[in-house]
Amino acid sequence: MPITEEESDKIKEHLLSQLENFPEDRRTQIKEQVNSMSIEEVETFVEQNKLTHLGEQCIFCSIVAGKTPSFKISEDKDNIAILEINPLSKGHSLVIPKEHSNKIAQSTKNFAKEISKELQARLSPNKVKINEIEIMDHALLEVIPIYGDETEKRQAPEEELKALQEEILKPKEVEIKDVFEPKKEKIPVLPPRIP
Ligand SMILES: [Zn+2]
Repeated sequence: MPITEEESDKIKEHLLSQLENFPEDRRTQIKEQVNSMSIEEVETFVEQNKLTHLGEQCIFCSIVAGKTPSFKISEDKDNIAILEINPLSKGHSLVIPKEHSNKIAQSTKNFAKEISKELQARLSPNKVKINEIEIMDHALLEVIPIYGDETEKRQAPEEELKALQEEILKPKEVEIKDVFEPKKEKIPVLPPRIP
């Protein structure tokens, strides 16, 4: 992620504002180190520490790493899907690419389509919308079931999200299809035997 000089300065400023988290005797040294960093060095630092252009830790990378708890509903090798904690509707989910990037890969779009089909089958909304968004430089997809009565986002209680996660993850009831079964001969029903 190439950064501009202005962004580099912002990141340095942010890092310097964190100085109080370090022991007093190391602060001067760290301050000098931060101030002497070139743009390239800031860029490497940002990449290695998965920071945003403001120098903040990326919440989505933290979720992917399992450092921030979430309600995961699916995962493949490049993406995870979690329930949005401030949903617009029941089943509102986020598809997060595991890689911190401001671009969405085709594999992520395909994964989101699978999630939308799953939500459609499980929750029966009128339709499912997929939006591309970017938060803290991490591009992701929102998968939102639309029921027609949506008003605004609200904070969902943890128990509600947990119950919904279980509902989405529970094994599907197997539909028994008899299309390929050979037709059974009709057996005449015998009258019940009277002993
Ligand atoms: Zn990230």
